[in-house]
Amino acid sequence: MTDPTSPQLPAATILGYPRIGPRRELKRAVESFWAGRSELDDLLIAAAELRRRQRARLIDLGLAADDASIPSDFSFYDQVLDTAVTLGAVPPRFSHLLDDDGALDLPGYFTLARGAGERPPLEMTKWFDTNYHYLVPEISPRTRFRLADDRVQQCFLEAAAEGVTTRPVIVGPVTFLLLSKAVAEGDPGDGAVPATAPPEDFTPLDRLEDVLPAYVELLHALAHVGAPWVQLDEPALAVDWGVPRERVLAAVERAYTVLAAETTRPERPALFVPVAYGPAEDALPILAGAGVEAVGIDLVRGTVPSGEVLSQLGDAVVVAGAIDGRNVWRTDLDGALERLQELEAGLRPGAARDGGLCVATSTSLQHVPYDVGAETTLDPQLSSWLAFADQKVEEVLALATALTQGRDAAQEAFATAADRRRSRLEHPGVRRAEVRDRVAALTEADRRRAPFAERAAAQAEVLDLPPLPTTTIGSFPQTVEIRRARAAYGRGELSAEAYTAAMREEIARVVRLQEELGLDVLVHGEPERNDMVQYFAEHLEGFAVTQNGWVQSYGTRCTRPSILWGDVARSAPITVEWSRYAASLTDKSVKGMLTGPVTILAWSFVRDDQPLADTAAQVALALRDEVADLEAAGIGVIQVDEPALRELLPLRAEHHAAYLEWSVGAFRLATAVAAPATQVHTHLCYSEFGEVIGAIDALDADVTSIEAARSRMEVLPELQAAGFARGVGPGVYDIHSPRVPSEEEVAELVALAAESVPPQLLWVNPDCGLKTRGYDEVEPSLRHLVAATQKVRARLS
Ligand code: GLN
Ligand code: ZN
Repeated sequence: MTDPTSPQLPAATILGYPRIGPRRELKRAVESFWAGRSELDDLLIAAAELRRRQRARLIDLGLAADDASIPSDFSFYDQVLDTAVTLGAVPPRFSHLLDDDGALDLPGYFTLARGAGERPPLEMTKWFDTNYHYLVPEISPRTRFRLADDRVQQCFLEAAAEGVTTRPVIVGPVTFLLLSKAVAEGDPGDGAVPATAPPEDFTPLDRLEDVLPAYVELLHALAHVGAPWVQLDEPALAVDWGVPRERVLAAVERAYTVLAAETTRPERPALFVPVAYGPAEDALPILAGAGVEAVGIDLVRGTVPSGEVLSQLGDAVVVAGAIDGRNVWRTDLDGALERLQELEAGLRPGAARDGGLCVATSTSLQHVPYDVGAETTLDPQLSSWLAFADQKVEEVLALATALTQGRDAAQEAFATAADRRRSRLEHPGVRRAEVRDRVAALTEADRRRAPFAERAAAQAEVLDLPPLPTTTIGSFPQTVEIRRARAAYGRGELSAEAYTAAMREEIARVVRLQEELGLDVLVHGEPERNDMVQYFAEHLEGFAVTQNGWVQSYGTRCTRPSILWGDVARSAPITVEWSRYAASLTDKSVKGMLTGPVTILAWSFVRDDQPLADTAAQVALALRDEVADLEAAGIGVIQVDEPALRELLPLRAEHHAAYLEWSVGAFRLATAVAAPATQVHTHLCYSEFGEVIGAIDALDADVTSIEAARSRMEVLPELQAAGFARGVGPGVYDIHSPRVPSEEEVAELVALAAESVPPQLLWVNPDCGLKTRGYDEVEPSLRHLVAATQKVRARLS
């Protein structure tokens, strides 16, 4: 039986809810404040209003107002940054922003996220295997932790004043430290002084003992304001880190012994510790043994824990993440109920009825849009298969009802779910014989090109490039005029002819500019693309795009992932006319530009009714046809971007090999149709590549451009060590910063690159596409890039 002094967790809850606002209200309010168009007070009012409406919405949907089922998880920018600021872990380069009590105000908080002048912001990186990015806290051997902020309590009180008892959410101590980066003691990190490395053997996890008192303080403060529950997220327990597993588990045991056992109730709220984004069976008995009141498991990415594990959970309430927080399909409620019943049987009969088993989402719903009801242009049948955040709340409630009162009590929801599932299974676009036959007939030969040496010789003959050829990654700045034309065309206010003419004019301008700059391999500039994935989704069968399906990517940046719902086919060439037109304007080579299969999958909501590998092969075949058509149109250089290759890498090392096999296989399937004389490029960015170096080689691209400027070519020795011996274009211009690099700076990076890459394989290019920059930065930067390359060329010859 559960501890009688412990408050009950509600039978249904969610781990988190989107926060950016159904109409991106928070984005607008924050950006307007940043731009100086509104006051801090306006922003605070807008945020409070958003929180109020979200609570009201969740109550409307059926979550109770008085039992801590509504999470209090608002963030102005990022939940990891919030946790760092709450714990006082502000890097020394920002200490001037702290007030006398060591607290940071909201403008200061934004400065940590965005940097200021010479002070770079916190680094940003992927949140698990999602497309959300968090800010990486910096922890040194000397970071001083304390409860430095009362935002968590204030949000609780704000809701309480309205009669709503929420459940504050914060990142738990073990995950907080595992997500942090080790920095040197007192590292000024202002970029001016080269940061000294932290002590060789130091990891942020070494600071566990020091961070725990700050958490204890927070727990006391939350008890003081009357919070019955707090949610301490520990998703990092589902991931393999460089740290030995025993060490992670020992940290869990120590942390929760301090927080749960050595801190008694009611001096602290009851603790709910969910492990999301994957299974972590080994951590559950430790959490329960340490005395946390509730543990959460991910039943979507994981399975029902073994009887042995369940028998060790004692009194801890089990919160089962049965509804997928990361995808947009309606749940197979019968299937989910079965799993929940299996879980209940493993716990004890009646566990759901007496509060020992609760139903939740597998992760926060921050990864899905708000409401399918807001979509007016989606095909109604497709809509009927979808569940966004609001629909998922209803699904959680239906499952909880069925589990506690029997399936009949939620009959309607179950019947609808079964009906929609059937309609999806039977839809002719979901399984298309011609697509499946084509995939089934593939052989290894379809993924293999001629040996690189043979290709390189054939390409050298037709392309006639100088040593250290210069190129760009594809997009040029998206000007106001381009965006306007695209929007007007989308609304039907601009005819197809007028739109094409406007885009052609832009392409001609960009080609002229590149010729004038003296670049060697030109691009058309991608003016016709709103987004590198959505553009292809709009032109391929089997995909749909939403109107309002925004999902936070980082800070105020949102994306609208496409929905890949059926078998993928290409009914007509997509990019060929644009590339052909660009090529007709110049004697230089123009690079065709496609988004790779893995990236298309990573940045879309994918179907859940077949393995990703199968979906990837279908997308790859559609791209393969596009590659063949580009080649036939005389395009001799074709780039297939895979910036998300690293992003989909599974969290557990045991699954890496299988993933890399199908992802690399999909890229090769898309590109191996190219003749030896056609030069295939790929482009990678946004991550550290250590773990996928072997895969980069296996892609077998003739030229790989890769983000490298900020890390000063760090990746090159790694590539060399892995035996990579094809063309490589390390980025020499960091396009993520508005700074224009000088010619000397670029020359230095090119020379640095030439130390690890033989000159006949080295390319010179920016780090990534230029679409987010302005021409006033791009033009001089590219001019410096070309001039620097010419100098290095002269030196080398
Ligand atoms: N070709 C794309 C562009 O230049 C690549 C973008 C990316 O890597 N994210 O915009
Ligand atoms: Zn890129």
